[in-house]
Amino acid sequence: MSQDRPLSFEFFPTKTDAGHEKLMGVARQLAAYKPDFFSCTYGAGGSTRDRTLNTVLQLENEVNVPAAPHLSCVGDSKQDLRGLLDQYKAAGIKRIVALRGDLPSGMGMSSGELRHANDLVEFIRAETGDHFHIEVAAYPEMHPQARNFEDDLVNFARKANAGASSAITQYFFNADSYFYFVERVQKLGVNIPIVPGIMPITNYSKLARFSDACGAEIPRWVRKQLEAYGDDVKSIQTFGEQVITQMCERLLQGGAPGLHFYTLNQAEPSLAVWNNLKLSS
Ligand code: FAD
Repeated sequence: MSQDRPLSFEFFPTKTDAGHEKLMGVARQLAAYKPDFFSCTYGAGGSTRDRTLNTVLQLENEVNVPAAPHLSCVGDSKQDLRGLLDQYKAAGIKRIVALRGDLPSGMGMSSGELRHANDLVEFIRAETGDHFHIEVAAYPEMHPQARNFEDDLVNFARKANAGASSAITQYFFNADSYFYFVERVQKLGVNIPIVPGIMPITNYSKLARFSDACGAEIPRWVRKQLEAYGDDVKSIQTFGEQVITQMCERLLQGGAPGLHFYTLNQAEPSLAVWNNLKLSS
């Protein structure tokens, strides 16, 4: 571990060469903070299969930070998944973020041989033993499709029991939801580290749209202030940085084992928060 508390940054694979070059520049900037790993998302159904693979290999081999591909099972066959696992293993990749994924609308949810993330974790363990450190997703404010909160906790526990090594949460803006979630799953016997996923606030309308879709609640007092700033990007960013820094302080003081930043392929918003926390690197 290169930090007091593990630090990691998430990217998405870009569609253009120019975007990719920019991403590599951002990654080099973030590498100076000695993160434990970078991760790169995967388009469910395989839409970014090659781009995720190439990005991960470049982050690992050229930026020299351990890189973790996200891998989702919905829409991919076992053969596809096996092929990717073999490639990652051969390339020396040691960590994978294992997800169910969300298929683009119209593709149907039944495609693919593995239905839930716990099936994917089980499959990765059966295929590759202990080679990979497997991260899974956690939802302190409940996954939007879960039948209820209790059911979602049990389903999270299934992933740990299937062999997950640690978890990264969906982003949230309410530290209590994180502490409550951790306490509840620990009572179910889950003892893997659960690292909060942190979404810096930089743009209100995009954040509001995305939060609605993924079930993350923007507290009223935060929403109302962001709304009032309108197009004043500077004020949104200053206020957002303050809110997220304070939440991260509370999380770390309360025992969160590290922080995972959703960078959206930008360095500054995550670094502003990280620098405010004044943790050693
Ligand atoms: P699961 O753990 O399978 O849960 C999905 C739903 O099914 C939940 O409601 C759960 O309660 C229920 N459930 C789980 N297991 C069972 C079971 N055995 N029986 C019955 N019900 C069950 N999406 C992408 O497409 N690509 C990415 O790269 C990506 N990266 C992500 C990274 C992080 C850190 C997070 C938090 C999310 C990411 N997502 C990504 C989004 C994720 O794929 C979606 O939230 C998806 O809807 C659920 O994935 P999951 O792995 O949590 O699924």
